[in-house]
Amino acid sequence: MLAARDIRVRFGGVVAVDKVSLTVRDQEIVGLIGPNGSGKSTFINALTGLVPAEGSVEVDGKPVTLGRPGAVARMGVLRTFQTPQVHDELTCLENVLVGLPEWNLRTLGAAWLRRPSMMRAERGRWRGAYEALEFTGLADRASAQAGELSYGERRRLELARVYLGKPATLLLDEPAAGLNQVESQNLVRLLTEWRDAGGPALLLVEHKIDFLEELCHRMIVLELGKQIAAGEPAEVWADPRVMDAYLGS
Ligand code: ADP
Ligand code: MG
Repeated sequence: MLAARDIRVRFGGVVAVDKVSLTVRDQEIVGLIGPNGSGKSTFINALTGLVPAEGSVEVDGKPVTLGRPGAVARMGVLRTFQTPQVHDELTCLENVLVGLPEWNLRTLGAAWLRRPSMMRAERGRWRGAYEALEFTGLADRASAQAGELSYGERRRLELARVYLGKPATLLLDEPAAGLNQVESQNLVRLLTEWRDAGGPALLLVEHKIDFLEELCHRMIVLELGKQIAAGEPAEVWADPRVMDAYLGS
């Protein structure tokens, strides 16, 4: 379980996230929504140590040191980015492999990796990476350069990378952004399939409301860094403050 309490992030005079608390329990899918600029990405950046933040975060009851990139990842909490973080010059398979903590761009280029003995030892990981591409429907693109992918494929490549990491909790920052209706529905199917197969608990950050309705157990709504509503999707939609926040944006 991931529990964040009173997370606060300031950029100069602007309070981008103002004492936001939330928990994501095992198997749960929680939506974090709100108009553009309401602090959703900053909240995820705070949890993952990419921006300085106040407050506290615990994973399975153990405290996480804020402000350290990688700290929550080591505790089984992975994330994707609002703009896919893909290495254009690498193949899709390599892009998935560089997501592993023990891999990076340097090890990937190292000659010793190409030695047959090493290839044998690494075969399990390559297989895992290939399975991740299969899961996201990119297996036939395994040896294509990521730079050749369409936008929707880049999004799926990012998902393949975290899939290989077998997270207990996954933070997805606007995974449907830039996807068309069909791609968006495919993503919902993929995430549902993953969950049914014992996949991670999800914190789904979205700007688009309709994407979340099918998936979420609970939702939290931000406006200007503050939580303005929380509850089951139906309750949240019925809340006039939520409608105002969206209409006002
Ligand atoms: P959302 O993801 O909900 O669209 P963000 O978290 O990206 O919103 O942004 C929340 C607020 O924080 C916005 O006012 C934005 O301009 C500001 N902000 C985000 N990141 C930075 C940063 N690195 N430096 C300064 N201001 C930032
Ligand atoms: Mg954002």
